[in-house]
This record gives sequence, structure tokens and C-alpha cells, in this order.
Amino acid sequence: MKQLTLATVLTNRVSNGAQSERKPSPPAYLDKRVIKSQRESKRTRSQRARERLATKEHLSRLAVGLGEVELAHKIERCHSRLSVLTCGRHIARIIPNFTCEFRLCPDCGRRRSRKLQNKYLPAMRGFMLHHKVTPVHLVLTQTHRKENRKQSAKRIKDAFTKLHRNSFWNEFFKGGTWSLEFTKDKNGLHHTHLHIIGFRRKFFDIELLRSEWLAATGDSYVLHLKPITDIAAGLREVVKYVSKPLDIRRFGADDLKEFLGLKKMKMFGTFGEFREFCKTFEPSDNDAAAVGDLESLARDLVEGCACPQCNEPLFDLRMSKNELPQFYEQVESSPPGKVGTSWN
Ligand SMILES: [Zn+2]
Ligand SMILES: [Zn+2]
Repeated sequence: MKQLTLATVLTNRVSNGAQSERKPSPPAYLDKRVIKSQRESKRTRSQRARERLATKEHLSRLAVGLGEVELAHKIERCHSRLSVLTCGRHIARIIPNFTCEFRLCPDCGRRRSRKLQNKYLPAMRGFMLHHKVTPVHLVLTQTHRKENRKQSAKRIKDAFTKLHRNSFWNEFFKGGTWSLEFTKDKNGLHHTHLHIIGFRRKFFDIELLRSEWLAATGDSYVLHLKPITDIAAGLREVVKYVSKPLDIRRFGADDLKEFLGLKKMKMFGTFGEFREFCKTFEPSDNDAAAVGDLESLARDLVEGCACPQCNEPLFDLRMSKNELPQFYEQVESSPPGKVGTSWN
């Protein structure tokens, strides 16, 4: 292995943290959360890496406060030492020393969401081709009540079961996926939403759908619908809630306690004919490439291999979790097609 340390390869770039907050002007029917998440995805990898670090520190502090010392230790160890396979301008692969598998861990959540994307994107593409259906992103909401997270999730899932079993729904939709999103308001009430990727057979009147949702919930007709033009981006959008089920940095000790008491709650699922389709769908060898999952494609890469993006040789760089955001910054600011001098 080359004698390279992070200190020798990093330039003294300091993040000034200045972010221009552009105000998007979305169509009125879009859900505020959808817009927010689109803005989130524009954050750089270094910013997101810093956020993951802060989230994990917060989680482990909360765990210590609750006497969950073992959990805190696991979160701290997770991704604490990294082996980064890089050409200097691109990151081909990151191998962590340890993964905690805790459901709220943002690093482990990213891996879970990548797995879901690898599994379902090829099936979605196959389903759309086979059935000539178009995907939409539907956000279903419910009224806020004094109840715990589990009750809130059960209430909205039960209503959705009613909805997708009725004839209206089946006339217009041919199955899809659902995922749960949790938020809490200032008064501590749970706001639970269902994000649906629905495969639409034909157009329908949204007011009809509202009245069906009202019939299923008994008291809520609020929903948001937008067409999905890029199914990969659409799926990424909904699995994000699986990888990041809650706004953890606003999480208090009580929230963590409640979460630990929940055990396993299913956050993502399929329904209708898409569910049946997935059972027999055989993905092809090219599916990782079709998904664009570079990290999966890079699974066999080792030091000395050519970088898949630029053909320069890859080398192995060892770093701690705190050094990764800075390394991302270095990579992000490297000019394309030219290796930065600090790497020679
Ligand atoms: Zn983890
Ligand atoms: Zn490269």
C-alpha cells in the first residue's frame, strides 16, 4: 500500500458553510415535504457526511442518557475507521470497520436504502414495460391525534389497506410500493404519512381519490399526487424515509425510549400486482449497472485496479470517520479530467 495519509493529500480547504438557500417555485399541488427533500438532495456529499456524524453523536449521547451503553458504543464504533478506495478524484468504494445495524443509524440506513433500490428498481422497470403503466408519487396523510407512534402507523396502514382493496383503487392502480414517514409537531403529536409509488393504469379525477381516502380514514382527505418522470429518482425519494425514518437531531430521550420499545416496525412494502410480480421477477446481470449503483459495481475492486470513472489506478486510503467529510470536499473540488497536484 502506498504511504499516504489523509493529512498529506488534503489541501487546506475550509468549508465556509455558506449555502445559498434557493427558493423553489413548485406547482401548488406539491407536498411541502417533497419539496424539502428535493432541496436536501442538493446538499453535497461532504455536508451530508457531516450531518451523519452529528446525528450519530446525538444518538449515542441519548443512548448513554438512557443507560443504553452498549447501543451507544455500537453507534460510536459503526463506520469509525474507513478504508477508502480512491483514485484521488473519485471514491470507488468505502469499507467500514464495523456496522452497528441500528435502525436509526444514518450510515446503516443508507446501506439499507441502497439494498432496497437495487432490489426494486429493476423490478419496477420490468413491471412498467410489461404492463404499460406510469408511476406516480402519492402522499397520504391523516388527522393528528394523541397517540403513540405505533398507533399512528397502524391507523394509516389500516386505512391504506381499505383503500387499496376497493374497486376504485384497483380500476386505476396496478400495485406499487409504500413507505412510512414519521414527523412530530411542536405539540408532540405524531404526523405519519404514507408515501406510495403507484403504477397508474389510466388518469383519474383526484377529487374522487380524495373522497375514497376520506371514506377509508373516516376523517382525512388530504393527499398529494405528482407524476414520476424518473423512476430511479422516485424510488430514491421514497426509500429515503426508510433510511432516515425520523428527524433524529430533534429527537429527545423520550423519543429514543419510545423507539427502542417499538421493536421491528415494517417501514416499506409492496402491494397489489406489483407485489406478485416481485415474487417471480428475475433481475438480469446488468441490473446493478442499470441502477447506477457504483458502490455495488465496485465490490470486486481492489487497490491497483483502474478507477471505473477515469481509469487512474485506485489506492487504499485509511481514515477516521471525522476525516471523511473533509475528504469528500477534496474530491468534490477536484477539477474533472485533471488530478489535483496534491495527489502526485
Ligand atoms: Zn450503523
Ligand atoms: Zn477516478
